[in-house]
Amino acid sequence: MNRSILLIYTGGTIGMKQDPETSALKPFNFKHILDEVPELKKFGYKIDSYSFDPVIDSSDIEPRFWVDLVRLLKEHYQAYDGFVILHGTDTMSFTASALSFMLEDLEKPVVLTGSQLPIGMLRTDGKENLISSIEIAAAKDSRGRPMVPEVCIYFESQLYRGNRTTKYSAENFRAFKSANYPVLADVGIHIKYNTSLINYPHSWGRPLKIHTELNTDVVILKIFPGLKKEMMDAVVDIPGLRAIVLETFGSGNAPTGEWFTGTIKRAVGKGIIVLNITQCHAGSVDMDAYATGKALKEEGVVSGYDSTTEAALTKLFFLLGQNTDNLCVKSLLEKNLRGEISIS
Ligand code: ASP
Repeated sequence: MNRSILLIYTGGTIGMKQDPETSALKPFNFKHILDEVPELKKFGYKIDSYSFDPVIDSSDIEPRFWVDLVRLLKEHYQAYDGFVILHGTDTMSFTASALSFMLEDLEKPVVLTGSQLPIGMLRTDGKENLISSIEIAAAKDSRGRPMVPEVCIYFESQLYRGNRTTKYSAENFRAFKSANYPVLADVGIHIKYNTSLINYPHSWGRPLKIHTELNTDVVILKIFPGLKKEMMDAVVDIPGLRAIVLETFGSGNAPTGEWFTGTIKRAVGKGIIVLNITQCHAGSVDMDAYATGKALKEEGVVSGYDSTTEAALTKLFFLLGQNTDNLCVKSLLEKNLRGEISIS
């Protein structure tokens, strides 16, 4: 099978190996990936690698790094059948969500993966994650079309839509969860693709469009019993703030006292977009379910439905980067752009 894959190494645990002299973990030279993981040669694919320099722990990821990444994908888009991005797990869901919005009309797989244990350690989960990610990125259907033309995360035998994931375990090999959307593929003896759940283009052959303008004047505000008006005011008064991702209780509920609703009203009045998502790990915001949610809706708060925090934040970065008009941003927030929310 004549397939070509570009393996992009950004950093993170997966690319570490023990220095034989000091026994410290340090990144290995990705130019030699085929020597480190000789199993990859058995695919018979052309596997090229690109390593960021310097490689970074994913806690240091900044939005401008996503811009570099989408530019790199665009530059090499025609030359490869699929892309595998090795990335630290800590912020992998943010990167996957951001890429899903920044890449429009994507027709090839972009699979992010990493590991909990370095690839150079005996019990590593990195080898299986890497090998299966490459197989998935190269997989085609009987018509020669990619099986998963989406930005995905592959981890511990499951393939997820990237913008539906959250890192939920700092311990288990199964580090990610996609609570509101089923897995795109299950990997056991066979790789079982859930094709009815995968987003395929309406018509194939469109050029990839990349969006590199991001506006990051956005904060996440998680509400909690004990939150004070002064704290809310400090957030609302951040100079230049364009949007607040409001992590509410349950199905989108928040305190009903004037100290809270009045501050939200002031924010909306100042032109700040307030996007309501739930701090529950699964389920959706429904601002009509309780009076406490209705009050927010009346103040002009927008529903984020069943969005993850990562998708809500990066969708705002993306939409505010493209549009200056709040009405336009609000109407796009309510639309399912890349499979990130469960509305049609
Ligand atoms: N701190 C590391 C990172 O996110 C953890 C990992 O790779 O799993 O880069």
